[in-house]
Amino acid sequence: MMKTSIVGYPRIGSLRELKFASEKYFRGEIDETELQSTAKELRLQNLKEQQESDLDFIPSNDFSFYDGMLDTAFLLNAVPARYKELGLSVLDEYFAAARGYQGEKGDVKALAMKKWFNTNYHYMVPEIDDNAEIKLSGNKPFALFSEALENGVKTKSVIIGAFTFLALARYTGTKSKEDFAEATANTYIDIINRLSELGAEWVQFDEPYLVRDLTDNDIAFFKKLYNKILAKKNGVKILLQTYFGDIRDCYHEVTALDFDGIGLDFIEGRKTPELVKTNGFPKDKLLFAGVVNGKNIWKNNYSKTLNILNELKNQNIDFVVGTSCSLLHVPYTLKNETKLSDVYKKHFAYATEKLTELAEIKKILESENPLETAEYKANAKLFAQPRSGENTTIKEKVNALSEKDFTRLPEFSEREKIQKERFQLPLFPTTTIGSFPQTAEIRKTRAGFRKGEVSETDYENFLKEKIEGCIRLQEQIGIDVLVHGEFERNDMVEYFGECLDGYLFTEKAWVQSYGTRCVKPPVVWGDISRAKPMTVKWSSYAQSLTDKPVKGMLTGPVTILNWSFPREDISLKESAYQIALAIREEVLDLEANGINIIQIDEAALREKLPLRRSDWNSEYLDWAIPAFRLVHSGVKPETQIHTHMCYSEFADIIEDIDNMDADVITFEASRSDLTILDVLKAKNFRTEVGPGVYDIHSPRIPAKEEIKAALGKMLDRIPAKKLWVNPDCGLKTRGNEETIPSLENLVAAAKEIRMTIL
Ligand code: GLN
Ligand code: ZN
Repeated sequence: MMKTSIVGYPRIGSLRELKFASEKYFRGEIDETELQSTAKELRLQNLKEQQESDLDFIPSNDFSFYDGMLDTAFLLNAVPARYKELGLSVLDEYFAAARGYQGEKGDVKALAMKKWFNTNYHYMVPEIDDNAEIKLSGNKPFALFSEALENGVKTKSVIIGAFTFLALARYTGTKSKEDFAEATANTYIDIINRLSELGAEWVQFDEPYLVRDLTDNDIAFFKKLYNKILAKKNGVKILLQTYFGDIRDCYHEVTALDFDGIGLDFIEGRKTPELVKTNGFPKDKLLFAGVVNGKNIWKNNYSKTLNILNELKNQNIDFVVGTSCSLLHVPYTLKNETKLSDVYKKHFAYATEKLTELAEIKKILESENPLETAEYKANAKLFAQPRSGENTTIKEKVNALSEKDFTRLPEFSEREKIQKERFQLPLFPTTTIGSFPQTAEIRKTRAGFRKGEVSETDYENFLKEKIEGCIRLQEQIGIDVLVHGEFERNDMVEYFGECLDGYLFTEKAWVQSYGTRCVKPPVVWGDISRAKPMTVKWSSYAQSLTDKPVKGMLTGPVTILNWSFPREDISLKESAYQIALAIREEVLDLEANGINIIQIDEAALREKLPLRRSDWNSEYLDWAIPAFRLVHSGVKPETQIHTHMCYSEFADIIEDIDNMDADVITFEASRSDLTILDVLKAKNFRTEVGPGVYDIHSPRIPAKEEIKAALGKMLDRIPAKKLWVNPDCGLKTRGNEETIPSLENLVAAAKEIRMTIL
């Protein structure tokens, strides 16, 4: 009998019910009983769906009010005293750690939040201080196991594993993870015992940290933890679940331990098939084969999947068919996509549809003649059809690219001279990152236009008025390089996606990003091309109003791709190059229309660096950096190219950033300790730089002296002629009340520093 399993299921509700209920609870509009009952309803709904789809290993405890790491911290009693001291209810203490608390009982900040491996999901970083006492506290996995059991399902309880938990936690005192190993292992034994008492048959420990580059010490630490835990299984079978890659550094050690099942990722784990093939897989264990992609929205290709599974069969390996990772990272169900045509939808599988796929694969595998089953044939037919979005012209263009298309001439220092001559900017030129405050009026008018309540002419006139206001404001403040304000944009990716052929937009494909927040990434459906000019009208209008240079403002190909659901039938590189060619057309169009400075934002470039350092170049940077170069290599020497990144944690790829060959880069530096500047200096960074002089994520107005001090520190490390002065990101989330005085102080600070240098 073939069996199926999923690593986890989305929990926010198919119409984001949990989000809305939680936010009501935060606002005090409903009480805990009501929130709990919504949560229970959603869990039972998920359970029912999974039961009806004939799934064998149904997970529990994959539900969370906020985040699974935070749940685990509470389960292990790894909760900083500042939250406990508030004296709140258990749930409110949990939310205080998740979101911060400000009220009659105190004022505490939330735990830090970080990206969950290579996904756009963010987890709460547990904080462990020297006084932390790791022990079993809380009841959630047990309560949820019992709840499912009462509803007729003996679930596989899902918990983040000890190794990943300790590896991702932050240690705020002098102790390290080693000091907590013993207590943590004991607590996991207690967890197993409690589940055993309740009648559990399987427990799943998620250990995604195993797919990273591991040192010998890491592996020894993993063995130490699990040798201890696995010595006390108490009749419960333990599934070690890995995902987001392969476990090439520890395959031997992991398979030698006394696990009953091991979950391997056959989608992102490039080396998984090879590891299994060359090293074999123990006969006494079940291999949970992650063959259905938990991160993307495309239908599974059964022919490819059968190839993988047949290989396992040939090796006489006992396996379960499963997803590559939790389905948390895909939207719920296609049933809610009522507007999208079936032409597209028939290629899609969200979480619910992936359950169906697992059932179909099971059926196919169990059949005498797999290739003759109706399910297999229908799938093969779908994949044999050409995709409607094909554009041979674009394909040929990408194929014909050669070195010169990626090379801007003349080289940097030559251009720098030409541009200094042309723009005659003062030392320490001031600028902003692009967007200006998106007031309620702007959002409302844009929404009205989208709904058809505001006519196109009225909307255009409204935007022109806003642009003019923005230009006058910047002139008044005395900024040197102006922007148009980005009032026409909802979002820096969606806006461009909507203007590009080949993109699709969904109605309800929400994916949890963190806590109650979800994002709705657009889908790269076909070959990408520029359908029409996207920004030329707004930028050239803005430039027509002033003698100062106005920056054209675009989003770069890597960021557009990283914040979309990518295709699986062509490589990321090919998609990135297609998008790059489309943005390149826009760049050249802006240049032809009198825009002399063009900024191409790559906010998300750092984000998708592979988890293993050894893959950074071959898997990513080797196409991501050229994709950016392709966008701007065709401009004239006197046109100045800027880029912007939202973080400064790129010390380790600094040479690649320089290799993007932009003329100027602006980035966030105000919140970090400026160590990045030391690296710039050490590496002789060539590109001119605008490290943000104040933090736009906070409503604070930075004083002139504060900005001068920041500039002083920058000047210790950056040659004066390379330094720009700007905020650290776009201003769209801020109000005018704080933006105007902040920029006035910024300009005043730059002016005063100029005087001291002269
Ligand atoms: N140009 C964009 C803006 O100013 C950049 C946004 C970003 O970096 N996230 O809003
Ligand atoms: Zn930014």
